[in-house]
Amino acid sequence: MELNEQNPDKPSRRIVLKAIAALPVLGLSACGDAGSSPVTATSASPSPAATLSPTAQCTDDDDPTPSQTEGPYFTPSSPLRTSLVETGMAGTRLSLSGLVLSTACAPVPQSLVDFWQCDDAGVYDNAGYRLRGHQFTDASGRFVLETIVPGLYPGRTRHIHVKVQAPSRGVLTTQLYFPGEPRNASDGIFNADLLLAVQSAGGAQQATFNFVVQL
Ligand code: FE
Repeated sequence: MELNEQNPDKPSRRIVLKAIAALPVLGLSACGDAGSSPVTATSASPSPAATLSPTAQCTDDDDPTPSQTEGPYFTPSSPLRTSLVETGMAGTRLSLSGLVLSTACAPVPQSLVDFWQCDDAGVYDNAGYRLRGHQFTDASGRFVLETIVPGLYPGRTRHIHVKVQAPSRGVLTTQLYFPGEPRNASDGIFNADLLLAVQSAGGAQQATFNFVVQL
């Protein structure tokens, strides 16, 4: 059973994405402040360059977040939970948060966000639900996931799988990537439009990503 994620459906390329453009919604540029709430994050410096309103980088022509191959390791019916961290679990702790937005920049509450990933050693739990879990965005369209930085396995760069589904809408299946990873350049699935904004927080990491979905 040699499963190979390097054989994906051709990922849709060149969709000009909004994940990065939408990041200021969270006030979390690469070197920005950490962990602020999505709505109130931009209050610090009212200089022209810093006065981005929560929707300043989200215009009505935002394209949806690109889809990517599901890969071979998705398991349906993951547990409802916002933390995938278990006692004794190895790996750098990662807090991943963001919004689900419509292409018109409106937050989409009650969107399903289902994550799965390998462990610190690059191994997926294909028998149970370790490092798998789903949640629903809150009234602000926000999700927060507590997990670990996924390890590496042959043929892929570091990534987290996710499915996003606005209420009564289609499912977006995609993957999220980490900046500065040596394997990003050689991974045939990698898409820079799906890069997380990551910053260190002590011994842990904080990352943000906003999904844009077609309603
Ligand atoms: Fe994978």
